[in-house]
Amino acid sequence: EDLAVDRWVATTCGYCGTGCGLYLGIKGGRAVAVKADPAAPVNKGHLCLKGLYEWKILDHPERATVPLRRRNGAMEPVIWEAALAEVAHRFREGLATGGPEAVGIYHGGQLTLEEYYAIHKLAKGVLGTPNIDANTRLCMASTVSGHIRSFGVDAPPGCYEDLDVSGLIFIFGANPAEMHPQLWQRILRNRKLNGARIMVADPRLTLPARAADLHLRLRCGSNIPLLYSLINVLIKEDMLDKDFIRRSTVGFEELAEAAAAFPPERAANLTGVPAADIVAAARLFGRSPSAVTVFCQGVNQSCQAVDTVTLINSLHLVTGKIGKPGSAPLSLTGQASSMSMREIGGGGSLPGFRNPENPEHRRQVADYWGIQVEKLPRRINDINRMLEMIEDGKLKVLWVIGTNPAVSLPDLGFSRRQLEKVFLIVQDIFYPMETAAYADIFLPAAGWGEKTGVVTNSERRLNLVRRAVAPPGDAWEDLAIVARVARYLGAEELFAWKGPEDAFRELRELTRGRPNDITGVDYALLERKGGVQWPCPEGGRETPRLYSDGVFPTRPEEAQGYGAFNNPEGRARLWAVPYVPPPEVPDEEFPFWLNTGRIIEHYHTRTKTKRIPELQALAPEAYVEINPRDAAQLQVVEGEMVRVVTRRGWVEVPARLTEVVAPGEVFIPFHFGDLDPGEGRKRRAANLLTGRFVDPLSGQPRAKAGACRIEKR
Ligand code: SF4
Repeated sequence: EDLAVDRWVATTCGYCGTGCGLYLGIKGGRAVAVKADPAAPVNKGHLCLKGLYEWKILDHPERATVPLRRRNGAMEPVIWEAALAEVAHRFREGLATGGPEAVGIYHGGQLTLEEYYAIHKLAKGVLGTPNIDANTRLCMASTVSGHIRSFGVDAPPGCYEDLDVSGLIFIFGANPAEMHPQLWQRILRNRKLNGARIMVADPRLTLPARAADLHLRLRCGSNIPLLYSLINVLIKEDMLDKDFIRRSTVGFEELAEAAAAFPPERAANLTGVPAADIVAAARLFGRSPSAVTVFCQGVNQSCQAVDTVTLINSLHLVTGKIGKPGSAPLSLTGQASSMSMREIGGGGSLPGFRNPENPEHRRQVADYWGIQVEKLPRRINDINRMLEMIEDGKLKVLWVIGTNPAVSLPDLGFSRRQLEKVFLIVQDIFYPMETAAYADIFLPAAGWGEKTGVVTNSERRLNLVRRAVAPPGDAWEDLAIVARVARYLGAEELFAWKGPEDAFRELRELTRGRPNDITGVDYALLERKGGVQWPCPEGGRETPRLYSDGVFPTRPEEAQGYGAFNNPEGRARLWAVPYVPPPEVPDEEFPFWLNTGRIIEHYHTRTKTKRIPELQALAPEAYVEINPRDAAQLQVVEGEMVRVVTRRGWVEVPARLTEVVAPGEVFIPFHFGDLDPGEGRKRRAANLLTGRFVDPLSGQPRAKAGACRIEKR
């Protein structure tokens, strides 16, 4: 195989947050193959299907190659300088007429650390706008808030090695077999070699649920009663680490009082999980010498998502199962670099996990950038707020970079109306794509394999992605596009980098002494080691596992946010969260729970994977999973086109009859938009159905529990 390519370029997979190491094979200047890197610490020579076919997105005939400008309703090619001058003009005009709130940026979670840093520096330091957010709002925002609440900063405690050695893997609202396949392989290896137990909490009978020793098949929207009840049994049966609770936490009394209200019998009524199973689960967790709780969108996109993260963290804190080999809450990130987004000050903070409401933190960043401190926004407006501001006529210019909100945002009827209203700049690697249909200006960008930079995976490991081929046509790297817009805005000197490594060095200095200190990292080290886990301070070592000493960065000078909750003693906080029943539950008119999610063959809105024939052939069409018992009552047969209706809208998709969903619940994959070349428009985007219910603390939309009905056509 090696003979078939001119060279192999070592890089990191650009899809999920696992962060697998791989080689991209180049022949005659074109990407022609991918192979796994046997030395990569994460995947050790294995890849999933998406990684294996990743090279096929490079050089695809639908790659965007020229900037476009809308004239008389149609998109026409323009030269870069004309497009960029207009972008800058629109921003200046917006600032002059409506102030910083009139402009905004919304970007993806698959860019590099350096690109995020540049985008946020432009938004906060040049435009001075609070309107800066990313699609990570839809996937990780609740974990960020939950970690800050529990630990003081958004620093995930564990690492993948914990999956190899833990005695119990508790998979809570996650499906790593489909979304993080290489981590699932590590879990199965641990079971085979060490006899690890597997426990799953999920409404669906997923592959991990089928493989589990114990499956807690809870109802949609009932995470909180289940977690409280587990803590209730742990307390009642004295399966706590009292020394750890006393030394390293505050708030135990309040948590114990709240948990006392959820004995297994009551939780069984609220969750649908038999009381005996809840007791068995608590015993499995409490008696196992070590435990990892793996969680993902079943938590982050749930009702009371931040509260759920907080209780998962509390489960580990009260049992002392944190900071030790095989013991940690482990939140899985969905995108290759969503963790990088958190490090550079995305999601409402400032670089180096600084708190934008802390005057000293603000001054440090402003001085380092050489800007007036007043320029920095104190709070950011998330994408939900930005859409409302467009509706109200306040936000007039929006730049969307590397994401497809016309498919991924909730309540698409509303969201698409806002994309229509605003002056929209779209920057992406493919054209056409759904969001570009609303664009006034389209900018063609370089993609994975065509640019160098850092991506950070779920275990805080900084990895390098490398440029192996040139971008097609006149597509530019995102970093260059941002820097050129800054030049048009008169802020060229703030982006005077010769390349991504200069941007990395600048950001690196902002982490000095902070919880995510990476002053000891450079590209050469990342190349040599195949990734480094932060913190890794200058002269120090990387840190696979955090909080090993039982001390948490909750002092006001360290903590990332929520000033009132900071704890000067460096102790984690246990929270007595409320239990609030879901805002929308099945009723006579809409009798089914609607759950949405992902499948192994596709990635996000399929901008990339629908263009890979091998993946598209495996999963060419959206569908709705219906339990056979419900299907019989509805008189719906396998493959029949049905209409799924909610209070927001409807879609038409074929029925798939399966026991994977429980009676009374249906599931639709959210990947499918309405624009597949050659297929005509289809009404099948799951987010036409979802609502604008958001978690009050994280602003993350709920995509896991709504009410719907099924209609025969
Ligand atoms: Fe890429 Fe994730 Fe698959 Fe690894 S598991 S090859 S990172 S998509």
